[in-house]
Amino acid sequence: MNIALIAHDSKKELLVQFCIAYCGILSRHSLCATGTTGKLIAEATGLEIQRFLSGRQGGDQQIAARIACNEIDLLLFFRDPLSRKPHEPNETNMFKLCDVHNIPFATNVATGEVLVRALDRGDFDWRNIVNPKSR
Ligand code: PGA
Repeated sequence: MNIALIAHDSKKELLVQFCIAYCGILSRHSLCATGTTGKLIAEATGLEIQRFLSGRQGGDQQIAARIACNEIDLLLFFRDPLSRKPHEPNETNMFKLCDVHNIPFATNVATGEVLVRALDRGDFDWRNIVNPKSR
């Protein structure tokens, strides 16, 4: 499966800890991330991660483009709900694109845990039919 990882600054450490905890599961999938998020996770876990531009430079839009093409199977976007971001409209659009293609996504760690465990159980194997290119 192709998994996209993004975290706002105040949630980056949480996502790093999450990836350490679920490193075994995540290592069996293709990972991509926005620039800074990907760098921090790769350094902490040694996981291989395709890194796009930083969110501020459009990395979130690069991931949104892959979602638009139905190429992402799971999105983990740990967001900070309390501070407004200049690129917030892009995020709303990203979630909308997930809904267009029935791509599961989590915006907080509680849902992230549920989805990663479901992924490990094979609950998203149907995605191999709609996105046969994913590993
Ligand atoms: P970053 O982007 O991983 O490059 O910081 C995420 C974001 O949009 O905040």
